[in-house]
Amino acid sequence: MPLVAYTRGGAEYVPEFLMAIDEEKCIGCGRCFKVCGRDVMTLHGLTEDGALVLPGTEEYEDVEDEIVKRVMGMVHPENCIGCGACARVCPSDCQSHAALD
Ligand code: SF4
Ligand code: SF4
Repeated sequence: MPLVAYTRGGAEYVPEFLMAIDEEKCIGCGRCFKVCGRDVMTLHGLTEDGALVLPGTEEYEDVEDEIVKRVMGMVHPENCIGCGACARVCPSDCQSHAALD
């Protein structure tokens, strides 16, 4: 049985949680960040080696010269309520969502 949630009217639905963001497809537009009210994601730097690093950290300063682009990454995936708003605004179809058991 998948994890279910309820609308205000008491109707049951199956939330689809954000599971992954494809950094190859992401253009770092920030639209998903703007519509998410749960502090799930923030922009990261993507290094030429494919590592995601968080701005403002020592790690970021160490590899700043190797950053090739800014992409969205998850910081608090446990906060996601599976509303799907981020997927609806993404122009690059780079997010994966799934129901949970
Ligand atoms: S599904 Fe909703 S809560 Fe989860 S990351 Fe996307 S916008 Fe935020
Ligand atoms: S909306 Fe899509 S392309 Fe834009 S930052 Fe979010 S995941 Fe990346």
